[in-house]
Order: sequence, then C-alpha cells, then structure tokens
Amino acid sequence: EKVFSGFSKTRDNLAVIDELLLYWNLADTDRVLDELEEALLVSDFGPKITIKIVETLREDIMSGKLKSGSEIKDALKKSVLDLLNKKGKKTELQLGSRKPAVVMIVGVNGGGKTTSLGKLAYRLKNEGAKILLAAGDTFRAAASDQLEIWAERTGCEIVVAEEGKTKASSVLSQAVKKGKEQGFDIVLCDTSGRLHTNFSLMEELIACKKAVGKVVPRAPNEILLVLDGTTGLNMLPQAREFNEVVGITGFILTKLDGSARGGCVVSVVDELGIPVKFVGVGEGVEDLQPFDAEAFVNAIFS
Ligand code: GDP
Repeated sequence: EKVFSGFSKTRDNLAVIDELLLYWNLADTDRVLDELEEALLVSDFGPKITIKIVETLREDIMSGKLKSGSEIKDALKKSVLDLLNKKGKKTELQLGSRKPAVVMIVGVNGGGKTTSLGKLAYRLKNEGAKILLAAGDTFRAAASDQLEIWAERTGCEIVVAEEGKTKASSVLSQAVKKGKEQGFDIVLCDTSGRLHTNFSLMEELIACKKAVGKVVPRAPNEILLVLDGTTGLNMLPQAREFNEVVGITGFILTKLDGSARGGCVVSVVDELGIPVKFVGVGEGVEDLQPFDAEAFVNAIFS
C-alpha cells in the first residue's frame, strides 16, 4: 500500500496510457504508440528502454498477437517486469553466513544516505537482528550527530570516531571489530558523501572496503549506493562511477514519493545490471521498503 502511494507522481505521469488504451483501435495505433512513448520518456524510462518496449508492442499489435487495449497494457507491464527480473532479480540483501555481516552505504550528500541507513537499521532490527551502526562519514561534522539520533531512535549501538581521529576506514574497522567481538549480526556503515567527482572520496571508499575486509573475510557483504530518485536519469553517470570504483551490489532509490521520474528505477537496473534493493517512499521511519518489482509495476501502471 505504501509502495502504491509512494509512486503516485509517476503513476499520474503514466495515467494517460490508460486513457489511450481504453479507446485504442488498430487504425489509431501509430498515434497511441507515439503518446505512450512520450509518457514513458517523461517518466524517465530512458530512450533505449522506451524504444524497445514501444517497438515490441508495435510488432505484436501488427502481427495480431495483441488485440485489445487491455492486452496491450498487460504486455507493457510484462515487458517492464521482465526487464527488472532479467537484470535485477536479487533484490534481497545477501548477508552471507559469517557474523557480523557488513553493509556499506555509499552515495553523494543530500541523496538520503543517513536517513536510509537509519530506516534500514530500524527494519533489520525489527526482523530480530542485532545491529551496530558505524559513523564513517567523518568528513561532514553533522553527519555523526545525525546518525547518533538514528541510533537512539532505533535503539541500536553506534561507533563514532574518537576525538581527533577522523580516518573513515579506522572508524569502520573499529566498528566491525566490535561487531565481531560482541556478537552483532550486522554492521551498517555510513560513509562520506562529498561530491563524487572528488577523487579522494573514491580513494577513501576503497580504503574503507579494504579495512573492513581485513577484519571479516569477504566483507563488505553489500555495498549499497543511495541515489536520489528525483534526479531521474541524471543518476546514471553517478551510478556508473561509483560502481566502477567501489563495485556496487545494490541500489537504494530514495525520494520516489516526490518524483514523477520513477521510470529511472527500470533504467538504472537495465543500464548497470545491478538490482534495486530498497526504495524510499517517504520521510517516516517505515518508509524504506524492500523493492518488489511486481508491486512497483502495479503501482506505476495502475
Ligand atoms: P545524506 O546527506 O545523503 O545523508 O541525506 P539525508 O539522509 O540527510 O537526507 C536528505 C533529505 O532527504 C532529508 O531531509 C531526508 O528526510 C530526505 N529524504 C531521504 N529519503 C527520503 C525519501 O525516501 N522520501 C522523502 N520524501 N524524503 C527523503
């Protein structure tokens, strides 16, 4: 239900498709497909996916395989679902069997990184896991205060940098050590998010990754990139860069409740071949939802 309301702006953008298909007849196909194409483009599905979907629909209409507006609508929904399932099926967190599992959250400032980390802590704790937070954003002064508020709110312990020690990799390594010694299930690591074009940030993320891997073999289990859903297709270059440098295992797409560009969910999965694992659909503590491709498709093409 929350996912449904969280995508209302994108759904409004795409509602025109319903009207078009309601009155569709064969003679009208070109005009209808043109408008359908336009609706997908303004919702940020991106040209590649849009053209592929529209041309497949055209072929199937012309060959007589699709014979009614509702069949066309179903075929449209299915093609989007197939795209998501083909390249982004592993939507569940892969935490391995070693304790603690380590999840690093990365992304540029303002995207919703700290908020998502807090919401994720809340969710995983409610599922029964013992969670430790690690304040690895040692660059922005207010970041660890913000995370401490989340620690209190969720009742999770937190490791912050010691006075005068600001190396992110040391904080994370210290947190993972504590997690190991004290039987935590998952360590959720915040990281710095100054501009992604800043080379030293990428260096720092690599150092963080190495540091936690020294404490627990094969950690981090997940590196989740937080992307601001209101930026639509503009998130693609950022996603590529983070992936090339640190290797992303999943996305958290935030602020989709405020975005009419929800098609970017499909585009980012298709372009990078990495699953969306969670979506942010509001500011409340429960507004981070595990991504469910079918629920998403039903929410945007209601
Ligand atoms: P950070 O700099 O990446 O750590 O970003 P923050 O976590 O501080 O979030 C920036 C702003 O975005 C805050 O005002 C959050 O409340 C807001 N925000 C984060 N996720 C969502 C979301 O899914 N929906 C909405 N509406 N706002 C969000």
